[in-house]
Amino acid sequence: MSILPEVALTDEPVHPISPFIRMDRMPHIWCPTCGIGTVVKCYASALEKTGVDLDKVSVVSGIGCTGRVAGYVKLDSFHSTHGRALPFATGLKLARPELMVTVFSGDGDLMGIGGNHFIHAARRNMDLLVVLVNNFIYGMTGGQNAPTTPLTAHSSTMPFGSYERPFNLPHLAASCGATYVARWTCLHVRQLTSAFAEAIGRKGFRFIEVIAPCSTLYARLNKLGSGLDLMRFYHDSAEVRHGADTREADIDYQQRILCGKFVDEERPTYLEMMHSHFRSVLGEKYVPMPPEGGWIRGED
Ligand code: SF4
Repeated sequence: MSILPEVALTDEPVHPISPFIRMDRMPHIWCPTCGIGTVVKCYASALEKTGVDLDKVSVVSGIGCTGRVAGYVKLDSFHSTHGRALPFATGLKLARPELMVTVFSGDGDLMGIGGNHFIHAARRNMDLLVVLVNNFIYGMTGGQNAPTTPLTAHSSTMPFGSYERPFNLPHLAASCGATYVARWTCLHVRQLTSAFAEAIGRKGFRFIEVIAPCSTLYARLNKLGSGLDLMRFYHDSAEVRHGADTREADIDYQQRILCGKFVDEERPTYLEMMHSHFRSVLGEKYVPMPPEGGWIRGED
């Protein structure tokens, strides 16, 4: 039986990912040549490829251009407040452990406003797939400097060039405890789709960064051109090195972008740690709530 929702039979051509998208909400708000749409397409292809039960997939986002993904996917989705996608997703996973929860948001939301939540969700190895589209600035609010803006790059709040050292996101995620860490650009559609499919099959805190500089506010200001020029930039700048040390994954202004799968390991998730702890401390009194949540029986 197909995993896809039913599509009405008509003579009209149907886009292959339309079963995953709320077509009634089209056109979307993303600018022409923005990479976010490509990332959504790769995610939808991975869902189709893995055959995961779509009734058990949930997408959570915060605020920003990438945050709009939650509103366009035909899945249970939640558009939460700025920087709070990870605590919201954590609560959802704890209450409904059977769900495959994906957090889909931008660098400003996940690493700027919500940075503290990121380090703790990774430290706890929360069972979440976190997709971060890195556009190098705050896109929706006017192109301000973000914690990911490369050193010396121009932004609306740093017109003479940024003098703040940006985060190396794969290294941050790996240092905090993420069990799967990968980075691709939005030119790498096949690799990105495979990374999503692979990460869907793993558990724990899985982090995939996708490089997609904001074409409207970052690329123009930094003379990266548009459309095809951006694709050439990704092509010429990407260096694929699986298993590379994440300390080497810094992104310098218009320099090489290290891509690949850097971390892929298994560690008990937060819920597994919790169950094992309560079972050892409480023994028979600990009754897991179906399907695997935890509950403590009162004193007999
Ligand atoms: S403002 Fe930038 S990040 Fe936002 S949709 Fe437009 S190009 Fe994409």
